[in-house]
Amino acid sequence: MSEPLLFHSTRGAGSATLEQAISAGLAPDGGLYVPEALPRLSIDAFADASTLAEVATVLLQPFFAGSTLAGALPDICTESLSFDTPLKPLAQRTNAYVLELFHGPTAAFKDVGARFLAACLARQLRGDSAQPLLTILVATSGDTGAAVAAALHQQPGIQVVILYPDGRVSPRQAHQLGCFGDNVQALRVDGTFDDCQRMAKAMLGDAELQAQRPLSSANSISLGRLLPQMSYYAQASLAIWRTHGTEANFIVPTGNLGNALACVWAREMGLPIGSIHLACNANTTLPDYFAGADYAAHRTIATLANAMDVGAPSNFERLRWTFPYDNELRGQLTASSVSDATIRETITRHAKAHDNVFCPHTATAMHVLDNLPDDGLPRVVTATAHPAKFETVLEPLLGFSPDVPGPLAAMLYRSASAEAIAADEGALKEWLLRETVELSRA
Ligand SMILES: *Cc1c(COP(=O)(O)O)cnc(C)c1O
Repeated sequence: MSEPLLFHSTRGAGSATLEQAISAGLAPDGGLYVPEALPRLSIDAFADASTLAEVATVLLQPFFAGSTLAGALPDICTESLSFDTPLKPLAQRTNAYVLELFHGPTAAFKDVGARFLAACLARQLRGDSAQPLLTILVATSGDTGAAVAAALHQQPGIQVVILYPDGRVSPRQAHQLGCFGDNVQALRVDGTFDDCQRMAKAMLGDAELQAQRPLSSANSISLGRLLPQMSYYAQASLAIWRTHGTEANFIVPTGNLGNALACVWAREMGLPIGSIHLACNANTTLPDYFAGADYAAHRTIATLANAMDVGAPSNFERLRWTFPYDNELRGQLTASSVSDATIRETITRHAKAHDNVFCPHTATAMHVLDNLPDDGLPRVVTATAHPAKFETVLEPLLGFSPDVPGPLAAMLYRSASAEAIAADEGALKEWLLRETVELSRA
């Protein structure tokens, strides 16, 4: 049996096992869990892996080795990564592709991480029947909450509480968040995503509250979501390596930096990944930093690509851990900001000229691609959500609504509700304690 890999906080506290890091979500000192060192793999290690689940099993083995979940890893991957993540060529450009990550149950890439995390948590809880009810607190900019709720709906021993910024998610996203019921409760926060994230972090760091109501997170700060997201970058880059014999260059729509960080870590682990570009909306915290400004969180601006409305990207701490020096870090990635007007223009142009309909998030990355020379280098745009989730943006531009995929249609058919709450830590703590009393009476 190999020595298990240990994890510690980006702020220094250590050491946790994989199981502890996955179930805690946030480190005790408020930092994010990172491995002692990122393992490295050779491309040959993936010789027999082609499906997403097979690639994930090889890629994640070094993180799981020696943990109590090690034996279950192949099953966790097969069960949770059971939908397609196709790499589709773009007809209008040489060697350009779209990596579609929206074929899971809630039609956004968040399904990958949420389902994997849920499969891990379910096994950890099964192994411990004396465990009290675990509350998974999720701050969401629109898509995470639904993916986590879908993955944990009716899961014994788990309660899901979703916090989302009221009025700042699309109507269909809001419906999805409120439609589950049973062990899932949605709270609409009178504030921004950054408020939701701050409130969730405060609860996770509150020892008094935790003693009464054990909490965990399922945000992109959770290691159990970040790790599996590396798999689709591994799978896509290996496919391009096998076809073209060169590295794949990625353009990733970016908000909280969970998706793009997974791409960076996959590259650090030895996968054939070349450049990585962060396509941001009008929230310019990352583009400003990569242009040379000191890192500074900005106020959140509401945009059409609402799931990327983040002024204080949490995973920046992990990026800093990966590359501790500013000049080194700035050499690893590029970033740019795309306005709402450009998002609209890009969606309309691609629909008219190429019959391709993209969601507003994917459109930011597509715009970046459109501005690059057609130099034949393999380039991949990450498509993060199905366009049908954003019909209120697309319909006025295109004059039609994209077809709704089956699982999304089923959710929209159910009734939905959410409780209003102030953007205040005290209000949330009170709510959680009150709910605990009610749960224990039930
Ligand atoms: C969450 C989300 C993003 C941003 O991903 P991060 O990991 O937060 O950078 C982009 N597009 C969609 C559709 C999303 O749901």
